[in-house]
Formats: sequence, C-alpha cells, structure tokens
Amino acid sequence: MQHDASAKDVDRVVSIINELGYEARPMPGAQRTAVGIVGNDGRVDASRIEALPGVAQVIHVTQPYKQVSREWRADNTVITIAPGVTVGGDTVVVIGGPCAVESEEQILSAARIVKAAGGTALRGGAFKPRSSPYSFQGMGKKGLELLARARDETGLPIVTEAMDSEKARMVADYADCIQIGARNMQNYSLLKTVGRMSKPVLLKRGMAATINDLLLSAEYILAEGNGNVILCERGVRSFDPAARNMLDLTAIPIVHRLSHLPIIADPSHGTGLRNKVTPMARAAVAAGADGVIVEVHPQPDRALSDGAQSLYPDQFTQLVGELRAVAAAIGREITPSRSGTA
Ligand code: PEP
Ligand code: MN
Repeated sequence: MQHDASAKDVDRVVSIINELGYEARPMPGAQRTAVGIVGNDGRVDASRIEALPGVAQVIHVTQPYKQVSREWRADNTVITIAPGVTVGGDTVVVIGGPCAVESEEQILSAARIVKAAGGTALRGGAFKPRSSPYSFQGMGKKGLELLARARDETGLPIVTEAMDSEKARMVADYADCIQIGARNMQNYSLLKTVGRMSKPVLLKRGMAATINDLLLSAEYILAEGNGNVILCERGVRSFDPAARNMLDLTAIPIVHRLSHLPIIADPSHGTGLRNKVTPMARAAVAAGADGVIVEVHPQPDRALSDGAQSLYPDQFTQLVGELRAVAAAIGREITPSRSGTA
C-alpha cells in the first residue's frame, strides 16, 4: 500500500482479495502496510487490485517459499522469545547450555554459568536425536521440568528440542522456543504441528539440505500460521573429515537477502570440536548472524553427549565478551537476558 493509505483503503483491498477467493494477510510495516495473498495456485490477476485507492504496487512473489521471502515482507522479522528478549533486531542473541539435560545439578549449574557470562537464553535437550539407538536419549519430561526450574532461577528463556508431533505440545508447554533439529528439518508433519502453535521455532538446517530446502521447510511453518521462525545454520556434511561438519557461514548473508526471518549459527555442531567453536562463533557474528547457539557444560569431560564440542565454563565467559566486541564493531550488541524470579 502507499505510505499514506488509510485503514479503509486496506480494508477494501482485503475484501476484494477475499471476493477473488483468496486469503488476505495485512502486514503493517515501518514505512507502509503490505497485504499478502495466500491460497492462490499460480499467478493472480492483479488488475482489480492494482486500481484500488491506496495501492502502490502489486508484487508477484517469484520464490517458491512465499511467506518466508523478502518479497513478501521487506522489513526484518523480529521475534520475541520472552518478554523483552528478541531475535532478529539490532541485537545478537547468545544461547548457551549443554547438549542435553543430564541432572538437576548439571542444568542449574549450566544455567548459572550462561547467566553470569551474560548469555541471553539457555539451551539443553530433554529429547535427544542420537545417531545410535544405544546412546543417551535424553531425560524426557523430567528434563523439561528441570529446564523450567533453571528458567525460574535465572530468568533465562529456554530453547529445547521437540522430536515428534506427539511430544511437541508437551515441549511447547515448557519451552520459550521449540528447536527442530537438523534430522527433522524435513519432517513435514512435525513442521505443520509447530506451525499450528504460536511458540517461536528454531529451525536447524538439515545436514544435507540446501538453503532453498531450509527456506521451504520454514514455509511449512509459516503456511500453518506461525510466523515466529528463527533459522539456524549448523553445518552440512562435507567431503572433509577434518571437522564434524562444514559450517556454511555464507548462508548467513544469503538468507538475509532471500528472507526476512532471522538466522543464527551453531558453531558447536558446525565444527564438532571445542577449539573451533570460539573462532567460528566470532566469525558468525561478524558475518551478520542474529545470534549463536553454543554448547557449554559445567564438566565437558563428563558430558553424556557432545562433550568434545562443549566449551568449558571459562571459555564460554570469554566468548561472550569477545562476541560483544565483534557485535560492537558492526553496530550491534548482545541481547541482555532478563532477571530471574526465584
Ligand atoms: C543439538 O542441538 O544438540 C542437536 C542435536 O543439533 P542438530 O539437530 O543440529 O544436530
Ligand atoms: Mn549436541
């Protein structure tokens, strides 16, 4: 719409779109309101819409992932994961915590470490997708309860994984942000399930997925009505065994150009080795990532999963300080966390 279009002009456009048999999604923006059209199969005849008062132009979305694209929405999407804690704005989030919740003592101590270091949110899986069925599978519901306890004490919002549709509701009851893991990026029934919720979703790139695949998976969630999607680059399988994965930091500026959704990086799974995590976390923020998610464990040598890539507490503290400096160099700052209630 033109920047001076009235609410009446917008309503008129919405009702014409409905008359044409489509669904209208008005999106007020900083400069002007855009009205998205969904439900069309193929190109919409724009002649009736173009001529309406207040309409500036009709843009045909050329990308297969429509609502995820920059054409659909020019302004960056800023997602609130907890009161006052946003992802995708001027600030950079630092999500820290162990790979998995292992015990009350372990997760509370990890949360205190993340909080004291100035981290923004706490990660930790209660349901773990492990390559081997004989590896530790996570604590399940008990793990979610422990995460909630850690949030009560520290105020840190919780990011934790849902592995299947049946448990997604339970995870959503505890989490501030539901993680969809790399192995589930193309689990379309799970994507639709979280798409019908309003909780923010952290969608990780599959290990053999293209950027186009990632954006199409995000589209599944938006198409169901949940626009709160944070993308995550976590490395892809490569020909080179020197690192666990190849962290594709080029994905950060590519996604920022193609989509309005925020994207963060996971240098822990992206490299698989502790001594590679700090340099790649710094590089991710320098590349414009809206945040990083980093594994840190009170005692990495005793971790039940991903110990080799988990930072020691003092390394995490040092990293947050360095990320603050990198962020400042590009005009951003680290998102502060809220205070605890306990
Ligand atoms: C994790 O975050 O611990 C995890 C299993 O990540 P990914 O799905 O990226 O492998
Ligand atoms: Mn892990």
